[in-house]
Amino acid sequence: MIKTRFLSGKDNNEIAEAAQILARGGLCAIPTETVYGLAADAYNGKAVAKIFEAKGRPQDNPLIVHIEKLDRLYDLWEEVPERALKLAEAFWPGPLTMVMTKTDKVPREVSCGLDTVGVRFPEHPIARKVIQLADTPLAAPSANLSGKPSPTTFAHVKEDMDGRIDAILEGGDCFVGVESTVVDITGDVARILRPGAITEEMIADVLGNAFTDSAVEEGLKEGEKPRSPGMKYRHYAPASPVKLFCGAPDDTAKKVMDAPAGAAVICFNEYAYGYEYASRLSAVSKVSPLGNSWDHAMHARRIFDALRSCDGATAIYVQCPRRMGAGAGSVNRLMRAAGFNFEKCTQYPVIGVTGRSGSGKSYIAKLLSEELGYPVFDADAEYKKMLESGGEMTRKILQAFPSVNDKGKVDRRALAKIVFEDKAAKELLESITHPCVAEKASEFIKNSKGCILDVPLLHESGIGRLCTAVLGVIADEDVKLQRIMIRDGIDVTMAKARLAAQSDDKFYYDSCDITVRNNGEGSKNLSKLAQKLIKL
Ligand code: AMP
Ligand code: MG
Repeated sequence: MIKTRFLSGKDNNEIAEAAQILARGGLCAIPTETVYGLAADAYNGKAVAKIFEAKGRPQDNPLIVHIEKLDRLYDLWEEVPERALKLAEAFWPGPLTMVMTKTDKVPREVSCGLDTVGVRFPEHPIARKVIQLADTPLAAPSANLSGKPSPTTFAHVKEDMDGRIDAILEGGDCFVGVESTVVDITGDVARILRPGAITEEMIADVLGNAFTDSAVEEGLKEGEKPRSPGMKYRHYAPASPVKLFCGAPDDTAKKVMDAPAGAAVICFNEYAYGYEYASRLSAVSKVSPLGNSWDHAMHARRIFDALRSCDGATAIYVQCPRRMGAGAGSVNRLMRAAGFNFEKCTQYPVIGVTGRSGSGKSYIAKLLSEELGYPVFDADAEYKKMLESGGEMTRKILQAFPSVNDKGKVDRRALAKIVFEDKAAKELLESITHPCVAEKASEFIKNSKGCILDVPLLHESGIGRLCTAVLGVIADEDVKLQRIMIRDGIDVTMAKARLAAQSDDKFYYDSCDITVRNNGEGSKNLSKLAQKLIKL
């Protein structure tokens, strides 16, 4: 039993102390943006060997080396290819680890007998400061006991490592929350061995191509040799058995609601609160919210804490996030934690396509429809149809906005004027229209075997919760303006005002599984994208 020192990352002297411990061959847990790392001097084989002991890590699972000067790559790798420099330029400092052929300077304790080594340049200011002061690359796996969920808070590290290592440097909660993306760049095409916040699509954008190793999504097949030793171990797992429910959030919500007595539930915020009112709440031991169903960044940040906090329950039922794009990291960790024990809750793909006016989303929806042979639900057209038919939705609108009543019909211009100027009125209108359009979308889904939903306010309307995949479409500002002006016959000032009232590109990057830019090239790579989107 070692007396573990607790150091504060807010205090420069204590950061320096952590660096000294490391430079002298000690072990210190440090915060990074992904998860807390258990660090040792990467050039000191003896120090590195102690990491395996402290974690109980299998001897053949190599460690990632952390640097804070790009030049270090030339000490660690035999060759620094152009593609590495491009990825470094795009994503470092940040949550990307690149695997290349190592030099003899990298001790075998780090690489565990492989002839390659993974290197990462973290973004976290405290991590960078420690590496800089220690004046050596640091080898660091996650600072948890081997097999357990990774630590994303100081309390997690303390729980696992107190008494086993020299020090823990406190640095608050990790803001990414799942480990770095690991990409093997020894071959011509980048191969993702572990998904994370830097997605396959982002890497392909920089290099022109990238793919994810099949073992990532499906697990290793009987007798298959892993490309990354870490793939073969039970990982990220609490002691309680974990079961995953995959599919559209509204479908998976029904399943997790049925969790057996004594189980814990990890679900999206939209359902967590409903759960509290459900009569079955008394039966489950805990409900841990994972963030809104569309919020991949929040899922990543929450996932390990949610798993740890549910440990001890008879079972953990998890509403699985969508797996594409930024969801891939969270889903991969959950699959591993569950030992690939999952149930598909949605039968056919439901692909949501969303974007601002003029982004060309309807065009992309049409191309996808031709590619896949799926029908398209056009929310705008459906809304107009309902307004004209004078049914339930019209009745409710006229009740809420009597001044737009034009002989029993809605005066659309008058209504548009009211809600354009008044935020509360807009919200009131949407509280009427969104559920009506969503109900139409539900019917459409039921009547098709796979479909595409073309919906401008996909998440806001709740229709995103019916989707198994969500594609965001963006376009450059001038392209959108041109399109709106031509399509709707309005001038540039009007077109600009309309665009200004909508969400920015970041909203789509954050809330959609995959986002494509459609400045006219439209169909590029579309069939590959379509295949990704239909994967359940
Ligand atoms: P951790 O240290 O807990 O973040 O896990 C590191 C992950 O990266 C493990 O899954 C390792 O198997 C993987 N990894 C590290 N170095 C290499 C390498 N040289 N080749 C392939 N995978 C690696
Ligand atoms: Mg780990």
